[in-house]
Amino acid sequence: MKTFCGRANPTTGSMEWLEEGEDYDYHQEIARSRYADMLHDKDRNMKYYEGIRAAVSRVKERGEKAIVLDIGTGTGLLSMMAASAGADFCYAIEVFKPMANAAVKIVEKNGFSDKIKVINKHSTEVTVGPDGDMQCRANILVTELFDTELIGEGALPTYEHAHKYLVQEGCEAVPHRATVYVQLVESRRMWSWKKLFPVRVEAEDGEKILVPPSEMENCPGVPSVCDIQLNQMPSSDFSTLSDVVTMFSVDFSKPVQSASTCYRVQLEPVKSGKAQIVLSWWDIDMDPSGMINCTMAPYWVKPTSALQWRDHWMQCVYFLPREEPVLQGEKLYLTACRDEYSVWYNLQKARADEEEHKADVGVESPVCRCRAHLLWNRPRFGELNDQNRTRQYIKSLRKVLKTDSVCLCISDGSLLPVLAHYLGAKQVRCMQPSRIDLYHPHELWQAFFKANHLEDKIKIIEARPELLKPSHLEDKKISVLVGEPFFTTSLLPWHNLYFWYARTAVSTHLASNVTVLPQSASLHMMVVEFQDLWRIRSPCGTCEGFDVQTMDDMIKDSLNFRESKEAEPHPLWEYPCKSLSDPREVLTFDFTKTVPQHCLSSEGSVKLLRKGKSHGAVLWMEYHLAADISVSTGLMQLSNEKGNCEWNPHCKQAVYFFSSVIESEILSDPTAVTYVINFDTKTGEIAMDFKL
Ligand code: SAH
Repeated sequence: MKTFCGRANPTTGSMEWLEEGEDYDYHQEIARSRYADMLHDKDRNMKYYEGIRAAVSRVKERGEKAIVLDIGTGTGLLSMMAASAGADFCYAIEVFKPMANAAVKIVEKNGFSDKIKVINKHSTEVTVGPDGDMQCRANILVTELFDTELIGEGALPTYEHAHKYLVQEGCEAVPHRATVYVQLVESRRMWSWKKLFPVRVEAEDGEKILVPPSEMENCPGVPSVCDIQLNQMPSSDFSTLSDVVTMFSVDFSKPVQSASTCYRVQLEPVKSGKAQIVLSWWDIDMDPSGMINCTMAPYWVKPTSALQWRDHWMQCVYFLPREEPVLQGEKLYLTACRDEYSVWYNLQKARADEEEHKADVGVESPVCRCRAHLLWNRPRFGELNDQNRTRQYIKSLRKVLKTDSVCLCISDGSLLPVLAHYLGAKQVRCMQPSRIDLYHPHELWQAFFKANHLEDKIKIIEARPELLKPSHLEDKKISVLVGEPFFTTSLLPWHNLYFWYARTAVSTHLASNVTVLPQSASLHMMVVEFQDLWRIRSPCGTCEGFDVQTMDDMIKDSLNFRESKEAEPHPLWEYPCKSLSDPREVLTFDFTKTVPQHCLSSEGSVKLLRKGKSHGAVLWMEYHLAADISVSTGLMQLSNEKGNCEWNPHCKQAVYFFSSVIESEILSDPTAVTYVINFDTKTGEIAMDFKL
């Protein structure tokens, strides 16, 4: 079987569809999967085990046989727990074929083949009866089908179906219940992920303020969940306006309804402020009494000693459709609406005519009307709202722009053309793809320019760089070529080097004394010890006494598929690490020249200066905008004695996990890590190898 995989080509900036064998897809799925992270989640595993033991005992006490249905068995872990707890038989359902195969092997290796039947089907395809997949309905329902938003992986329709067709009435369920909690907060930082703040520019002829179009103000944004490691958000970055409130619960031991619905709670702010954000998380009670509880509550809600790090379940940030000033003690209603797979929130002030206003509540899932939320994702909004960063670009533009500058900007959804115009460039053009997916960024720009009276000041060229014609530039040569650079198709930091390829493609249109901003870029590398992120790629061996090495081997195989171990993108502000080596500049890219034909490579070694475990290397780009002005998309600050790192909060950095971890101890003779890093100018990709 062949599948087509979309992959952005960093040399053309566009998506290409590559034909890949079936293996490719599944190796990607396994290699990047969260199975390892779940198996390392001790808190989750222990509580499931406790809950399963309790459920099996309750059934046995009633004098019944314990027949378990485990939907989404993965490695078979929960079924093996049930079998060990004395269950008579387990039906372990797994839709993903490679995992179902792994489950068969793991179950066999652990000696449970006679008690556990692995069924490679989606649960809704499972049949019950003498000739069916299951002999009879189960009386214990075990699942772990939850994502950070609880229902995003389809838990509700799966439960709804299981109660109708696969389990007995009055069955035991592990978990027994899930509860979703919310807290209303004000946070400039998180709100900056949703809307564009006015941008101030000190120009020669006074201060200019760039404002977003009015449609953007009231736009509900996009429905996709914003899940983050909320425990990495310092308390100084938000202010809680309400207590923690229970929003809704689902009892998994009773029939579950998946149809869209709304839940409403009354709130009284504990503080006056601007209601902007609803923070949310859930917990699951493994038993009916609620004694076995597994919670995602963040650090300010529960003692930090009880925090279990996990990446498969985090916390959610929901953006209210608009900012609402609220007063301490006033009556508010918060509404959560959900469909089968996602949740969204609305806030209303209580009014006398309550019943009527209940009808106001929007049951429709948020849809972006202003188009900005289609062009900019949340980190990108944050980046554009970063005033420090904007200041660096303004300072640099001011240095290079002259009144007769003909300026071309190449970057996706960039504000640089507007800044260049305010700072006095005579002619400003920007290149924008004419279409991203199904929508035209052009329309957003029209609205944007209109709101700022810039309609005839900035021209959009809807062409690809290689198709640029003298007529696009009114037969003038470009004297200033600018880019952030930023492209929506970039996955890894160096994919934004597409700017260099685009610059090469427009070479014939550049004036002989052209200024390119940034003038150059550099790739930086540092060896780190992660506080927690190492878990997602680390073998597990045994889990709660069950041998799951088959899974470890499978992940290892997939990571080494085609022997092309790759760096992966992670937003490191969410994943603390400590530097073990000094940061090292490993490659530089000179944008004043065209992309060379030959590869660029770098070899060397870095010393491990601090004690710790070398889990991997982090790589990031820095852009040198003008003399003495650089912006980093990676490391922002390094506290030297401890090696704590502060990362750019808007960007993902590249992480290359080492295949084996070394522990550095002796500081008198530091260990060295040697590296070879190779930038292939033909493909725009970077390959790397490290030896410890
Ligand atoms: N139970 C395992 C794995 C949980 S991950 C553990 O707790 O460690 C969830 C698994 O459920 C995934 O492997 C996914 O492929 C599978 N899955 C999700 N919905 C399913 C459904 N309706 N039917 C069968 N498998 C499902």
